[in-house]
Amino acid sequence: MKKNNGLLKIVILFFVTFSLGLLPPKPDEGMFPLSDIHKINLNEKGLKISVDEIYNPNAPSMVDALVRIGGCTGSFVSDEGLIITNHHCVFGAVQRVSTLEQNYLETGFYAPSKEKEIPVEGLTARITVSYEDVSKEVLEAANQVQDVSERSKAISKKISEIVNREQAKDSTITAEVSEMFVGEQYVLFRYKVLRDIRLVYVPPRTVGEFGGESDNWIYPRHTGDFSFVRAYVSKDGKAIPYNEKNVPYRPRKFIRVNKNGIDDGDFVFLLGYPGRTFKHFPSYFVEYHYNYQLPYIQELYSWLINYYTKLGENDPEFALEISSTIKGLANTEKNYRGKIQGIRNLNLIDKKRNEERELQKFIDSNPELRDKYGNVIKELEEVYQDAFKSGRSLFVLNALRMFSEQFKLANLFIDYKIEMNKPEAERKADYKEANKNKIINDINDWFAERDLEIDKEIFSKIIFDAAKFDELKNLEPFKSINQIKDKKQFIEELYSSELLKNQESFTPKLLDDNVKIEDIKDPFIRFVKQLYDLRNDELKKQQIRDGKVNILMANFNEAKRRWLNKSFVPDANSTLRLTYGYVKGYSPRDAVYYSPISSLKGMIEKSYWGTDYRIYEKIKEIYQRGDLGEYVHPKIKDLPVAFIYNTDTSGGNSGSPILDAYGRLVGVNFDRSFEATINDYAWSDSYSRSIGVDIRFILWFADKVTGAKELLKELNVN
Ligand code: ASP
Repeated sequence: MKKNNGLLKIVILFFVTFSLGLLPPKPDEGMFPLSDIHKINLNEKGLKISVDEIYNPNAPSMVDALVRIGGCTGSFVSDEGLIITNHHCVFGAVQRVSTLEQNYLETGFYAPSKEKEIPVEGLTARITVSYEDVSKEVLEAANQVQDVSERSKAISKKISEIVNREQAKDSTITAEVSEMFVGEQYVLFRYKVLRDIRLVYVPPRTVGEFGGESDNWIYPRHTGDFSFVRAYVSKDGKAIPYNEKNVPYRPRKFIRVNKNGIDDGDFVFLLGYPGRTFKHFPSYFVEYHYNYQLPYIQELYSWLINYYTKLGENDPEFALEISSTIKGLANTEKNYRGKIQGIRNLNLIDKKRNEERELQKFIDSNPELRDKYGNVIKELEEVYQDAFKSGRSLFVLNALRMFSEQFKLANLFIDYKIEMNKPEAERKADYKEANKNKIINDINDWFAERDLEIDKEIFSKIIFDAAKFDELKNLEPFKSINQIKDKKQFIEELYSSELLKNQESFTPKLLDDNVKIEDIKDPFIRFVKQLYDLRNDELKKQQIRDGKVNILMANFNEAKRRWLNKSFVPDANSTLRLTYGYVKGYSPRDAVYYSPISSLKGMIEKSYWGTDYRIYEKIKEIYQRGDLGEYVHPKIKDLPVAFIYNTDTSGGNSGSPILDAYGRLVGVNFDRSFEATINDYAWSDSYSRSIGVDIRFILWFADKVTGAKELLKELNVN
């Protein structure tokens, strides 16, 4: 074939396929807040209903069907408070109501009638009621302080004032002020929090978690990651905790199911609560994450996962107890690995640096801009150079607070004594008289949870690693640690602490005002006091940096808007967002292409791959019988299990309903591909793919495998 001829054919093919709608257009990057939904012309992109049906502040709309549940998203799918979310979002809840004898994680759970549902203490579902821009009020308070180190505090103080004011006005809501653009935009959100949530339907782990850690953050995927819970309120509609007499919550709106699901190329959109993204931050910020935060946490979590897993090998009770913690650690560990790879492969830091050089040229080309923004990039660089000097310090100190009960107790002791020296009004909220019971409860929990042998191992790992870090090795107590010959003996001596032996020796001393911290000679308390002081120094430095960043980022983004001549979508911050895209395959690396819909055949194939791929045997039986019913995909001639689409999602979007052009439920979002873990810094149509479980798999499993007729009736599909 002659070259030109070939090119012509490709060009023709391109236009033909495009005009026939075979190639979906590229979606706009972004997680659009409620205030932007009407600006993006979704009908042009493929939406077939009015945008008002998605969000309308004056009438019930789809956003009323959305809840934030745990750290995830869920949506109402019946007028009786039934919520669909992910299996992994209620994993901890299922674990809490399970025992070794009645282990619902293993068996799954189905309540055919409401009386059989299991209440889960502590699980809540939060609905967004309304929002309001309060930037002016927040920034006025911020601009009144001269000392930059006080700026962030002034903002937090104003935010809590607004929150208290709003909650006093209406006791049925929970208020929150969210930062949309650093130093620029602050929005007040009012939420209704439902507090009686009960388990309705949970598939067994072999389905909800099929593929385990091996497949987490991976496509092709065959995980049935879905579950159903129900929200209850008092008879008079109050969002109270569990009470026998409570009745199912009637949502203003619920989402209907489309049992025909999606096809390759279809338009989809998601509503949900993505947690945190960093797309608008400068190259130096990414550099800080890449060099310090991501590798430190990834390595520590990987160590913890191995350590806990080994301990559980000969202790099934511990293995069950720790399973949820391991799952959480593993999720972050692999995500951070993906991000490290993504930042490196994309050359993201250099790319951002180049962009900043171009921005600087633009600023310098105009005297007005140069006066206003000329030094912004340089000053941002200085702030982050200072952060590089602090390196991993705060992560180390936070890790101790997270993973060592012994450290938590000692730290609380010191903090309490210091705070109690202040007048009541100036103390941290935790130490006010009204909250003393909470402290006592925490202490009881920590003593109960503490296993000294495990604690010693984890504590040793964190402090001996940290003692080697350049940013810490010359600071106390790490400097002295580096002189220690017998590390084991050093730890034994620290842990021989009498004060921390038990509650009886600890709590009375804590509460006795005559016992001053200076008089305490206990080795562990003395050691932790050095870390406590170090943390305070670091926090002060960070406060100064935060204050500067708050001013600089506002200018940086403003200059960027002028340069690019467009407005931006704010980074995710756990507030309700919409993202849209198309069902679409992709190429993760050279010579590999992933088609967008996986099928049951793949699940059966993987079932021979080992532990993580244990299959629910009945699935195999039914598959062999060919009983896929009406759930078969007409083109792939098999049962679809999962599918991918090029939306912009992040952690917190788990459980987000995947909605078709008519706003009907076609799946539940639960993950991203490994390459898309970098979405949090940069989204791209070429590698950003979110993963959802197909509605046809959910319905087939409920119907054919577990015979959950009542559930299907409530979903109005049978
Ligand atoms: N698995 C994530 C979640 O739990 C979803 C994601 O990060 O894409 O929210």
